[in-house]
Amino acid sequence: MFDKLKEECGIFAIYNSEDAASNTALGLHALQHRGQEASGIVSMDGDHFASHFAEGLVSDNFTSINIVNKLKGNCAIGHVRYSTIGDKGASNFQPIYAQLDMGFLALAHNGNLTNIDKLRSSLIKSGSIFQSTMDSEVIIHLIALSKKDSLEDKVIDAISKIEGAYSLVLIHKNKIFAIRDPYGVRPLVIGKLGESIIFASESCALDIVGAKFVRNVKRGEMVIADENGLRSLSPLPVKPSKFCIFEYIYFARPDSNIENKNVYDIRRNIGIELAKENQIDADVVVPVPDSGVPAAIGFAFQSNIPFELGIIRNHYVGRTFIEPTDKIRNFGVKLKHNANSSSIKGKRVILIDDSIVRGTTSKKIVNMIRDAGAKEVYLLIASPPTVSPCYYGVDTPQKDKLIAASNSVEKISKLINADKVSYISIDGLYRALQISKRDNDNPQYCDACFSENYPIKIN
Ligand code: SF4
Repeated sequence: MFDKLKEECGIFAIYNSEDAASNTALGLHALQHRGQEASGIVSMDGDHFASHFAEGLVSDNFTSINIVNKLKGNCAIGHVRYSTIGDKGASNFQPIYAQLDMGFLALAHNGNLTNIDKLRSSLIKSGSIFQSTMDSEVIIHLIALSKKDSLEDKVIDAISKIEGAYSLVLIHKNKIFAIRDPYGVRPLVIGKLGESIIFASESCALDIVGAKFVRNVKRGEMVIADENGLRSLSPLPVKPSKFCIFEYIYFARPDSNIENKNVYDIRRNIGIELAKENQIDADVVVPVPDSGVPAAIGFAFQSNIPFELGIIRNHYVGRTFIEPTDKIRNFGVKLKHNANSSSIKGKRVILIDDSIVRGTTSKKIVNMIRDAGAKEVYLLIASPPTVSPCYYGVDTPQKDKLIAASNSVEKISKLINADKVSYISIDGLYRALQISKRDNDNPQYCDACFSENYPIKIN
């Protein structure tokens, strides 16, 4: 119904906390924007293991004291999910867990493995029985089947066989592992709360529990938190950084600092660069809330055109709200957005949005602004044209469904009924990230959905 790319998952882990499960529920709540379909927590108390999973939002699933009390132990990991690889349904909830010869092991994964088909069929041939369709289950099987002696070595053995984008947390007895793929596609940070150690997808999950940011987990790094403190191993060959540039545009929360950059600052910079590239005579700058707000602030600042909240967002639309029938589907956008005509009527409006995927929602929003009395509507996009799908942990439609893959900006303007559509250039995006020039041979970020330059082989 809402035409956006969707980040697949958020992960959180805590070692050595009396309130491990409660802190994990809070951390997942802060990461809710990374997945709203289901959430789960696994806690460990030595050999004792407990779990709770449910569809829907963290705030609906972990409210009961009974649930949190059931999740005993000083260590816990958690996961919020939006499914891409694998089906929806209880068997695909995470953290995923299994009983191995050394006891229970649970794992939470953000990302997508790219060599999954090969690995899964070879595991099935050698007798593995899969319980889910998740790519993450392959990692558990690889660990279980490893001939190495220690758990540490088994985990290293397993991750040396997987390819793709992965930030992982694993829990076994009173030990937590945090691992990031050699390209560092998905974020993963380390925090400290007193004597507790935390790993989380984004720093906003540290803030909510009052933890201090320590550092990012490095590319190809495995960090272990146990009774010996925090240990860092480098079991994987480090590759050039390919952090997902879309995290800055849309996925991450604006109050997070990821890879040492504040997301809000970058989005505001994108608006500034967008204004430098597009000088348009207009009366108001209006964001498509919420994700378009920081870029619109930057655009208004740079262009000296007044910023107005010309669209009001309804924040109370859950994912489980009525599935519209065909008859009312066109009103879907109004469940979430409504035009504030007093700041639009009779004006030339610059609308700022973070991206256009299929273009279906953009058209409805442009029409909504026109219906509210706008004289002209210019839609400026705080990302380059999305022309290709993501294979690294983001739900994207097939290429033929991406409006920018087969249409010029002029055609897109017509299709969505705007007076003009314009995107930030890829160089402008890099300038917003304070990189003076994109290295076209070896880009500093993964920007494959704009450039089709995929840094990790897709099998
Ligand atoms: S393809 Fe796009 S969404 Fe996927 S990791 Fe690369 S930049 Fe991010």
